[in-house]
Amino acid sequence: MGKDRSGNNMDQNIYLDEKDEIIRVSRELFEIGLLVRTWGNVSCRVDKDHFLITPSGIKYEDLTPEMIVLVNISDLSYEGDYLPSSESRVHAIAYKTRSDAAFIIHTHQVYASCAGTLGHKKIFTYFDDEDIVIPVSAYALPGTERLADSVRHTLKKYGNVNGIIMSNHGTLCLGRDSGEAMFEAEMMETACENFLIDVCKIDMPHGVEVGFNSHLENGVIIYDHKDTPERVRTIPQQIYEKRPDVNYIIHNKSEAAMMVSRRANHMRPLLDDFAQLIGTGVKIPSNEGEIRNNIKKNVNVVFAPNDGAYCLGSNEDDAQAVAVVLDKGCIAYMAVMRNGEGHYLSLFECMKMNRHYRTNYSKLADIDKE
Ligand SMILES: [Zn+2]
Repeated sequence: MGKDRSGNNMDQNIYLDEKDEIIRVSRELFEIGLLVRTWGNVSCRVDKDHFLITPSGIKYEDLTPEMIVLVNISDLSYEGDYLPSSESRVHAIAYKTRSDAAFIIHTHQVYASCAGTLGHKKIFTYFDDEDIVIPVSAYALPGTERLADSVRHTLKKYGNVNGIIMSNHGTLCLGRDSGEAMFEAEMMETACENFLIDVCKIDMPHGVEVGFNSHLENGVIIYDHKDTPERVRTIPQQIYEKRPDVNYIIHNKSEAAMMVSRRANHMRPLLDDFAQLIGTGVKIPSNEGEIRNNIKKNVNVVFAPNDGAYCLGSNEDDAQAVAVVLDKGCIAYMAVMRNGEGHYLSLFECMKMNRHYRTNYSKLADIDKE
């Protein structure tokens, strides 16, 4: 377990090349949008019994070599001042199961994660005109032994694959080196986007389209756009009034959020990060008079009928995280609607994750929440 620096012989320069490689790969994945904020993690095997992994809750742009944590594959013990990623158990099981794996990437990438909410055990798709099959491991709560078991089962069953989707959560991509693991993550994203377009008829960009943002300054609402219409202003006014914990609101008018605000009346979580950051369910009002009733404690999104969603945070960073996770959740929602079926998270699972998130991370500017 954690030891102080003076009490052990851990040399900060040991495995420096591997640590640099983990940081380089993390940043590259961050640049191309496959890793976001602190979500996901990257690891590298250094010998039969150990791997190095990104720490918990540190943004990729802030990583330095001394933050990379050395973890024991058999008992998950670690050295140093930084907590290893909360999904170390999954990495350890993958290294144990696949002796050929030397580099592992776990992401919450958009299209693969969405394809993993449809309830399929395998995704049949293609990449560069070649047919491929991506296995989907059964759902279990993040950080649990059950999740690690499910990943092991899938990796064993499909012995030759370099990538699997973890149902309702994200991906696990592995390789003999960082290049192979990175290729797998990128390939899976394109292949899953192909799948969503061809099978679910969902061709949607991922991102945040800003509408009318606002924030509080000394109790006064400041609108980013001076010409925010009076009719629109009533929505943030009601939110700030009913939710004293909210100081920043991002109005997300992305294609997916707009579509859900037009067509749905209730969203249940299809992805772990939705349950954690947004809440256990969000109603979509059918008229503006209903908005007030949908402003609820611990639900960080308020939909406007036919006009996207207001994403709430205690600061800009939190609101931005909610906006990004909402957009992905909306793409998943539309994919499930078009597919005709999907695997939703149970209320129990959602409540457990949501409570864990709020008690453990609400005081932090950011989190590692896989
Ligand atoms: Zn995760």
